[in-house]
Amino acid sequence: MSRVGSWVAKARAVTVLTGAGISTASGIPDFRGPDGLWTRDPEAERLSSLDAYLGDAGVRRRVWQGRLRHPAWTARPNPAHLALVELERSGRLRALVTQNIDGLHQLAGTSGDVLIEIHGTLRDVVCLFCGRRSPAGPTLERVRAGEADPACEDCGGILKSATVSFGQALDPGDLQRAQEAAASCELFIAAGTSLTVYPVALLPEIALASGARLVILNAQPTPYDDRADEVIRAPLAEVLPAIVRSAAPG
Ligand SMILES: [Zn+2]
Repeated sequence: MSRVGSWVAKARAVTVLTGAGISTASGIPDFRGPDGLWTRDPEAERLSSLDAYLGDAGVRRRVWQGRLRHPAWTARPNPAHLALVELERSGRLRALVTQNIDGLHQLAGTSGDVLIEIHGTLRDVVCLFCGRRSPAGPTLERVRAGEADPACEDCGGILKSATVSFGQALDPGDLQRAQEAAASCELFIAAGTSLTVYPVALLPEIALASGARLVILNAQPTPYDDRADEVIRAPLAEVLPAIVRSAAPG
């Protein structure tokens, strides 16, 4: 732990990748863990493919109902999210790449300068036909008022949360920023991610190839554990604040 703190203290550029594990302490279940969303409801995984969404109005109705009930709307950032805000304030955070769509890093105060929501965010909606993007609130109000499958108000096209579904490409600009951040950091911290979802799982590979140290903070083993400089299995809401605190001057 103190070793990691001293690496953070010495680094001018730290890139952090976060996954579902950082938000479980905020009450947002992960996908594949023992109590994960897809473990308890395999149907939910099928619902998150782009083909199913585009091709089946019934799927869209179910997805919108699920969006209304999503725990993110009432979740609050936890000490792990807040520690990464502190890390940004210290001037060392090169980039924060997150696989999460819950918007909690932004809510905690991480700035758009460093935040890359590589799988999108459910706090916006996007029209799959004309590309119009807008905050999710008004669309969710329409669902709540009885529109089961709300259409784009500009073009009548299919609306969807601004999240990346299975079968949907990542935003090329976001991916490039993430790859550059991995290639140009001295320390890469992967926190709360299984490092099994591509192409995000290649980011530690890029960091290692560029000579960065790799630290893994995750409850379960990852494919990179053998090559990491440090692996810590403690809860993120404890370990991340401790690392950032131990890196602080004085
Ligand atoms: Zn449209």
